[in-house]
Order: sequence, then C-alpha cells, then structure tokens
Amino acid sequence: MVSHSRRDPPSRHDLHLAELLDFRPEQGIIRLHEQRVVILSAAAMGLMRKELVDTLGSETARRVLLRFGFADGYHDAVNLRARSNWSGPIEGLHAGAMLHTLEGIVRAEVRRVDYDAETGRFEEEVTWHDSYEAEQHLHHYGKSQAPVCWSLVGYSSGFASACLGKEIYFRETTCAGQGARHCSAIGRDVNSWGAESESIRADFQAASLGQEVERLRDAVGKRLKELDRREQLLERRERELNVLRDRVNRHAAARHFVAGSQAMQDVLEMTARVAPLDTTVLVYGESGTGKEFIVRLIHDQSPRAGAPFVSVNCAALTETLLESELFGHVRGAFTGAVRDKAGLFEVAGNGTIFLDEIGEIALTVQAKLLRALQEREIRRVGAERSIRVNARVVAATNRDLRAAVESGTFREDLYFRLGAFVITVPSLRDRRDDIPPLVHTFLVRAAARMKKDVRSVSAEAMSALMNYRWPGNVRELEHAVERAVILANYSNIRLRDLPPEVTQKSRPRPGDDTLDLQEQERASIERALERFGGNRRKAADALKISTVTLWRKMKQYGLS
Ligand SMILES: [Zn+2]
Repeated sequence: MVSHSRRDPPSRHDLHLAELLDFRPEQGIIRLHEQRVVILSAAAMGLMRKELVDTLGSETARRVLLRFGFADGYHDAVNLRARSNWSGPIEGLHAGAMLHTLEGIVRAEVRRVDYDAETGRFEEEVTWHDSYEAEQHLHHYGKSQAPVCWSLVGYSSGFASACLGKEIYFRETTCAGQGARHCSAIGRDVNSWGAESESIRADFQAASLGQEVERLRDAVGKRLKELDRREQLLERRERELNVLRDRVNRHAAARHFVAGSQAMQDVLEMTARVAPLDTTVLVYGESGTGKEFIVRLIHDQSPRAGAPFVSVNCAALTETLLESELFGHVRGAFTGAVRDKAGLFEVAGNGTIFLDEIGEIALTVQAKLLRALQEREIRRVGAERSIRVNARVVAATNRDLRAAVESGTFREDLYFRLGAFVITVPSLRDRRDDIPPLVHTFLVRAAARMKKDVRSVSAEAMSALMNYRWPGNVRELEHAVERAVILANYSNIRLRDLPPEVTQKSRPRPGDDTLDLQEQERASIERALERFGGNRRKAADALKISTVTLWRKMKQYGLS
C-alpha cells in the first residue's frame, strides 16, 4: 500500500488512514486531518470534469483543473505538516504521495527526488498507477493525444510547492489516458523549467481565467457575427432564387408546360440556376420528356436571350452534312458546295446553339466539336483560316453517354466538356402527379382545334392514363389524348377511346384506386351507362335510383 522512492530509505512516518480520518456519521461530517472533507464518487467527479471540458473547451478546462488540483495539494501539505512533524521537505513529499494514494485519487509512487537546498534545484519523478482522472477521461472521450491527469499534476505541484516553500511545477510525460500502462510525471522548480517556465506558470495563474473567459466571449461574438453574415447571404440567395423560380414558373405557364410535380419543379429550379451562368449544359432525358423546353428555357433566361437560338438535330444529318451545318463550308469544298456558307456556330453569334441527339454524332465531328468548345474557334469545311465563335452550347440526348464512352463511340473528353452541368428531365412515369393536369391541357387544346365538345375524362379512363408506363412520355400522352378526343362520342373521354396499349395491361376496376365517394359514384354511373348502351332507364334501375336522380347526377358529373 505504501510506496517508497527507490533511492530514499523507507519513511519512518508511514501514514495510516485510520489516524487521519475521523468519521462522525451522526453529524454527517468526515474530517481528514482536522479538515472537513466530502466523499464524491469518481463518476460524479468525471461528469463534472466532462461538463468543464464541454462548456469551456479542453484547454480552459485543463487549466481550471490544474488550479483546482494545485489548491487541493497545497492545502493538504499545509495541514499534514502541521500534524505530522516531518523532518524535512523530502519526507513531506513522500507523505504527500501517500496521502494522494490514501485519498483514492491515484497510487503515487515517487521514483526519484533530487533536491539541492543551496541552489534550490529540485527534480522529482513520480509514477501514477490507476489514475481516476485518466479512467474518467477514457470513459467519456476515449484515448487522448495529450496527457489528461490535469488535477493530479496540479495536486503534485501544489503539494510540492507548499513543502519546499517555492514554486514547483509538475508536468505529465506519459499518461494512461493516452493508452500507456501508467502515468509518469516530472516536477521541477520554476527556474529549472528554463524556457518553458513562463508558459507553465501561466497555466497555473488564476488571473488568466478571466482572460480565458474574455477570449471565449470574443470568439463567440465572432462566430455569431459570422453566422449572421451567412444567414443574410442565404436570405439574399433565397430571395434571388424565388425571383428566378417565379420567372421560370410563369415562363412554363405561358407555354402550357405542366410542371406541378416535385421532380419537375426540381428540374426547373436547376435550370433557373444554370441559365444565367453561361456554362455548357447537357440535358438528358427519354424522348418526349420535354428536353427542348428546358433547353429553350436556358436560352430565354440567359443574358443571351436577345441573340439567336439555333438548333440542329444531329441524328437527322449525315456526317458530312452535319459538319457543314455546324461549321459551314467554302465554295468547292465538296460536290454541291457552290457558294460559301456560314455554319450554325457563326449564325448563333452570341446566342445559343442547341445540339439535339448529341449521342448520335460521328467521332470525326466529335473531334471538331471538342475543338470548337475548347478553343472557341471553328474552321469552315475547306477553309484555311479559323473563325472565333462565342455561342453557348447546350446539348441534349436520350442516350447514356457514359455507356457510349465506355463502348468507344463517344469521346470521353467531349463528354466531360459537355457534361459540365447535367440536367436530367424525369420520365412521365416518374412524375405521375403531372398526368391529370397534362391530360386536361391537351384535352382543352385538342377539343378547341377539332371543335368538339369534349370536356372531361371518365374516372376509368383517367385511371388507365395514370397507370400506363408511357415509354414515349409526354409526347405519347398528348397523342393519346388527341386520339381520344377524335373518337369520343360523349362530352367525356371513356376507356374505349384510349389507345389499346394504354387500356390493355392495367385495367383497374373503377373505384379501385380511389376512396373518394363521388369518384366511385361517378364511376358506377358510367359503368351502368356503358353496360346498357346508354339506356338511362335500365341504368337507373341497376343503380337503384330514379331516372330523375340519374339525370341530375349525369349533369353534375358532366356525363351526357
Ligand atoms: Zn495520466
């Protein structure tokens, strides 16, 4: 239990807890060498320590605990000396190690003490076994980079300072909190610490706590200001974005472009963000999804809106024709080139050039296109000199260009050039919410064009439209609605008016997909009418309502 220095002889004044502690349970008082003490669990001390670290930061917490330990050690030394009449400071140091052990804080083992009373040089090495502080630190924070037995260092420093009547400071060199088997510390008089003495002393001086708080307050103030600034910036961005969103939505509405679904709203927002930035954009999406609309939107919402917008379908032209179309040619460049011709890059000027079906262009044209993008220069077919170009390039494709790169049909460098910003337009089946408003838009348009009084869609037909896969996306839907308007015999479109592929696969029973009572009622009336070939009397009988009620409900639901 009691430890001794290796070099010094065992102390004659071994301390015994029984001598030091005075329990008076009836009074709720415990005294340790005449001083009242309290027993706190190591876990509670550990929690308080954690509170300090978490609220003050570990640097400040370290200093607070250093000073707390220092006061504790200093106090113990003064009291112990008064009671135990030790022969000299060295004996006192051993007593301090024992007391530290008896108090259950750490098993302290003094390994070496060198003290020269004349010069005042002092050096002590101590080993600490099972430090409660290291244990608690490991428990709350895991392994530490630096030693963590701050209050122990403080205690040893305070105790030694009181014993010797001079400034002695300890420093922990290895620590169980770092994963070592035990902790080691070294103590020296302040002068022996040399260059380090100032920083060590500062750690122990209480005055710096005020500075510490001041510093923390400053730091918090700065952080708050920074946050405030960021918030303002975000607010401004949000406002700008709202203006942009608003403009885009109005643009879409003006062109009857339905974009109510979240997926499509996200695409519009992305488009609004990139439009003014002058970067190359690649619009990806299945055919019929509305890529052209997005491309046009990019042009219209960019500073180039006043300049030309030219487009070319790369899949529709042969390699030679496409090259001449894009870059132009000089007279006699090839058979049929009877005069000089400017290419679309030149025609577009400061505007936008839209390359549709970019995935289909030949490798030779890809190389020339890459040069145009990189060097902003083109050369007409058959020409000697280059021409500067400034058009913004926006491309679209329904092909997986990455796969094309892997299979060697598309240049990787061109892919990266074009794909600087990719917008993926969702397929119609990925935004089914938009189907009813789209159907309505197409219905109104087709009915007006064909001068037919078709105003609505039966629940059954709408259900089929909602459930179909739409491989041809919005374009296919538009054609389906047009066809239905042509075929419709009533003021509403029915299931049989839809293309067979739409009605074939999923033919959900009316009312299956809705809990809406009115929808169900309407569906039942429609079915009854269909079953009895429009005979209202029979339909009413089957529905168990009067013909008058049937007539009123048909009017209500727009069923003629
Ligand atoms: Zn330690």
